[in-house]
Amino acid sequence: AEEVSALRKQNLITVLGKDVPAPIRLFDDLSTGEYKLLPRLQENLLSYGFAQPTPIQMQALPVLLKDRALMACAPTGSGKTLAFLTPIINGLRTHKTTGLRALVLAPTRELAQQIYRECGELTRGTGLRTHFISKVSEARQQHGPECKQKYDILISTPNRVRFLLQQQPPLLDFKTIEWLVLDEADRLMEEGQNNFKEQLDDIYGACTHPQKRVAFFSATYTVPVAKWALRHLKNLVRITIGVQNS
Ligand code: ADP
Ligand code: ADP
Ligand code: MG
Repeated sequence: AEEVSALRKQNLITVLGKDVPAPIRLFDDLSTGEYKLLPRLQENLLSYGFAQPTPIQMQALPVLLKDRALMACAPTGSGKTLAFLTPIINGLRTHKTTGLRALVLAPTRELAQQIYRECGELTRGTGLRTHFISKVSEARQQHGPECKQKYDILISTPNRVRFLLQQQPPLLDFKTIEWLVLDEADRLMEEGQNNFKEQLDDIYGACTHPQKRVAFFSATYTVPVAKWALRHLKNLVRITIGVQNS
């Protein structure tokens, strides 16, 4: 326990929540210990050649691999994308025709596209299929009822997703979503911006899977995100990296 708190202190990791899993030190800790990461995923992860996980990866990877709900705050450029894609991919393992099982939302098309590219690299050799909705108009063909079984992971912006959900009949079905990640959640929840809070409630409401995992990632700790997470998510873990803002 002392070792764990020393490791956190050293990496400026602050955690809130019950029974928060210990941070990992090395990416190798994911294949040797209790986590048993999918070998192909571990290979993809190591092929980046990163010397060690960043502080957010040290702490968020174990939390998400243990299926906990998470609100994570870590500076821009600190590797948050890998911190959420790795557990999603490990959880989904390989392609299934049951429908979309993971949904990642980002505030802009460009950010969603970056996540999509990273996901392409990390899923290499796993069989998992990722989709990025670039045009609402094209999504009509790609997400008809007959195409529903094509993809495992969807990466998009909230307004597109909500628009497709609201069509009659809906062009997306989120009943099978097991992982919901909101990236740059602080920006998504900003007052006055696209009224995302309403969109989130619609999208969250459409994800009816009883075992869905939810994670929020952002650069800063903001009250609207914390409020939403604490209200909706049981057994929440909160992680903040860096010096605490007062
Ligand atoms: P964030 O979402 O926190 O702003 P990104 O996920 O976009 O950060 O990552 C920023 C950069 O850091 C990317 O180029 C990524 O490949 C790189 N990166 C990710 N993890 C590590 C790591 N463990 N060590 C070094 N660089 C990393
Ligand atoms: P695109 O990439 O096809 O231009 P956007 O994501 O920019 O689509 O669309 C932004 C928003 O505009 C959508 O979330 C939706 O609310 C609205 N929208 C898009 N297409 C239509 C449409 N055919 N009819 C009505 N509203 C639409
Ligand atoms: Mg990011």
